[in-house]
Amino acid sequence: QAITIAIVGRPNVGKSTIFNRIVGDRISIVEDIPGVTRDRIYARGEWLGRTLNVIDTGGLEFNQADFMTQIHMQAEIAMDEADVIIMLTDVRDGITKTDEMIVKMLRKTKKPVILAVNKADNPEQRAEIYDFYRLGLGDPYPLSGAHGLGIGDVLEHVFQLV
Ligand code: GDP
Ligand code: MG
Repeated sequence: QAITIAIVGRPNVGKSTIFNRIVGDRISIVEDIPGVTRDRIYARGEWLGRTLNVIDTGGLEFNQADFMTQIHMQAEIAMDEADVIIMLTDVRDGITKTDEMIVKMLRKTKKPVILAVNKADNPEQRAEIYDFYRLGLGDPYPLSGAHGLGIGDVLEHVFQLV
């Protein structure tokens, strides 16, 4: 059966970059879901013989909504639609107040949330991801969207959870 992953996180952590890495490098697109304009937000493909839907919640726009409302709606959609949520953060910024607020929103769901720390481009940055244990979401996964690193490990974890 199909698995749906949603990527959530504050602006600029690299959601679209990771989405494009998953979609571009890892899965073969079988269907582009209609209704998506400029940037692709939803993709459906196949990975290891299973249908995988990926949602970049950051690409969803709720016009007129203020920053916190936007983030709140994105988290709600992830919790409604996804089987597994990827909470994305940025190692260079460390844990921010907005990250903490998103994590608080995600506490409402019983669905699995995987914590991924993007922009871990080099070994020094990968060593800094341990700070993110403080978010209480278990093991942080290092990612580099820029270099395409770590994505396979996250997807393998997703497949263990569903
Ligand atoms: P979004 O707002 O969460 O969708 O973030 P974007 O995917 O648009 O990325 C925001 C910025 O971070 C862009 O300038 C990206 O090129 C950059 N970026 C994304 N992933 C990485 C990464 O792994 N390493 C570095 N150094 N920059 C990255
Ligand atoms: Mg984006």
